[in-house]
Amino acid sequence: MAAAIAAATWWTTAVWGFAEPQAAPSVIADTVPAVAAVLLGVAVALLAAWIAVSRAHARVAAASLGGIGLLAVAGPVWVAADTFATLNDWNFANRTFLAAYLPAAALAMGGTLNRIDRPPHYEIHHALPLPRWEVSDLEREWNRLRAMTGAMPRTGITLYLNDAGIDRLGIGGHGAAYGPLVIAQPLTLVGPCQGGVLHEVAHAFMYVQSRGNTFPQLLDEGWAVANQGCPRRALDRRVLGDTERGLMPPLEDRMTDSGFRDRRYGGATTGYDAGGSWVAWLLGRYGARHFMAFINSATPQDCVTRARAVYGTSFTALEHAWLAHIAHEFGVRALAFSVTGSEPGQSLEGR
Ligand SMILES: [Zn+2]
Repeated sequence: MAAAIAAATWWTTAVWGFAEPQAAPSVIADTVPAVAAVLLGVAVALLAAWIAVSRAHARVAAASLGGIGLLAVAGPVWVAADTFATLNDWNFANRTFLAAYLPAAALAMGGTLNRIDRPPHYEIHHALPLPRWEVSDLEREWNRLRAMTGAMPRTGITLYLNDAGIDRLGIGGHGAAYGPLVIAQPLTLVGPCQGGVLHEVAHAFMYVQSRGNTFPQLLDEGWAVANQGCPRRALDRRVLGDTERGLMPPLEDRMTDSGFRDRRYGGATTGYDAGGSWVAWLLGRYGARHFMAFINSATPQDCVTRARAVYGTSFTALEHAWLAHIAHEFGVRALAFSVTGSEPGQSLEGR
């Protein structure tokens, strides 16, 4: 009975996470039901095995009991295995929970997005005929990222180009990067400064090359924004505007998911702005190899010390050099971090 309740609790939590993909992940809420379901499920399965062996007349009851136990174990074990196989981070538990369902969801989407292209590093599903240049551009992007980073990803990317506008996943038909499986809109449908498929491909590339580090949110999103095809000057201009509006706290305040989305700083929108511009500057100033060493070792808690180890200078010095670059670029006087908290911006979720 307890195992059945634990399993039901876990499935409810996971399905809720599926319906609310933007809800902040919670290690306790995501982990406790999974561990309870596994432990109780194993206990029930062992009990069933003992009954089956010791009491011949109760074999049917034992078999159904064993079934309940295995059901309790199967979901969480599947998800945990998926975490290690596809994603980088237990703190991304929500995304991971989703990822466990995505093969099934993708199968459902595959009914509509039923044309398939297979360039070397992708499996691209789509509904409408895909222009040749788009397939070439996606493949070129993969090769560019690999050449730039020197990283060799473990797998390719399964890409659902949602030109049919399907919203079976509760993500608005666009904007998901779950390990090697991406659901996004084609290049023709989204402007590069609004995100789009190159943003999600950059995320996926980073996840499939990772060996299991916790990416600070600002670096994770900053990397994707810096590689989505938007000109650097446009990214820098957003930071200038956010700073003037009092929505630019020091970067270390935005490393965690909650700091990234903090409404006092204008919500996630200004988080994308800060991350994109800063990471683009880091990549231009120090190169991608340094950035890979930084992102693959830094956690939200130790990114300040990791920055010094990787870049050989203090985190604060990096921040100030970046702001000085933007001030020089636009011919304004020195910029400084600023927070007034007076203008909570609208959050652009799901990028
Ligand atoms: Zn993103």
